[in-house]
Amino acid sequence: MPATIVDGNAAAADIRNEVSAQIARFTIEHGPIRLCAVLVGNDPAARLYADSQRHRCLQAGVQHQLVELPPDISEAALLAEIDRLNHDPEVTGVMIQLPLPPHVDEAVVQYRIDPYKDVEGVNPANIGMLFYGVPIIAPCTALAANELIRRSGIEVRGAHAVVVGQSRIVGRPIAMFLTMQMATVTACHIATRDLAAHTRTADILVVAVGKPGLIGAGHVKPGAVVIDVGINRVTVRSPDGAETRRTVGDVDFDAVREVAGAITPVPGGVGPVTVAMLLRNTVEAARKQLHRRV
Ligand code: NAP
Repeated sequence: MPATIVDGNAAAADIRNEVSAQIARFTIEHGPIRLCAVLVGNDPAARLYADSQRHRCLQAGVQHQLVELPPDISEAALLAEIDRLNHDPEVTGVMIQLPLPPHVDEAVVQYRIDPYKDVEGVNPANIGMLFYGVPIIAPCTALAANELIRRSGIEVRGAHAVVVGQSRIVGRPIAMFLTMQMATVTACHIATRDLAAHTRTADILVVAVGKPGLIGAGHVKPGAVVIDVGINRVTVRSPDGAETRRTVGDVDFDAVREVAGAITPVPGGVGPVTVAMLLRNTVEAARKQLHRRV
């Protein structure tokens, strides 16, 4: 029997509804929530993502300001702009649209965001607090993967989870979330010798690499929950030779859905839930700024 599809669009709609009510209440009690997104240069994908976030923010009742900066801005000037947003009491959330130009160090810029305004959860203070089990603001994609695992209905405690990909903002925080919920977690990465030998033992398989087709049916234990975080743009050639661009994950969806018990699609899986989690984090950040301790 083909796997159950874990619907990210439905999950995102539920989260947005819940968060919109919280935003309305917060705005009445404490004033507006304002998210500033910093866009450096004119990367079309970054702009598209910023526009879609803006739409979701306005829809939910969050003020959204796009701070547009020139592509040749120096790192020092960009950091000064982040400091300005950090200190502006009207601004409750700050995020950086990626990619940044090559002369700017992405980590240095992300680390400059006030941890209490860091709605994407990319500051080391936020990632580090996750290890203590008390994040101020947790990374959005890890929250999204976690939410979809929860919605798949699998019992995480005692399950064997395999996370493929170990980036500091995606793979590692997901592994940490699963560890905190008492899964037994295997972390696979570029140096893993026999990837399939590990993934085939997973009750929960999370893939966050950025390589289309990395995981096929032979990598998956029958009945497993498969969460595909990857987002890849690929060119597909139809039998008549026409080429089209498509978005796919890291998992060969059509093959794996015949083996897995539950699977997230791409698009329509982790992606929309990540944006919904950004909204949830934006309210959480505004709330925590009222009672900040550090
Ligand atoms: P990243 O920073 O490039 O990290 C990818 C990780 O995968 C690295 O740890 C890398 O190891 C590892 N890796 C590379 N090849 C591998 C292989 N063959 N087997 C096992 N591990 C391998 O990317 P990221 O930011 O974590 O994002 C991962 C994917 O998720 C991308 O497709 C990205 O677009 C997508 N993403 C989706 C969302 C969403 O909302 N759905 C959000 C963020 C990211 P090395 O560093 O050692 O090479």
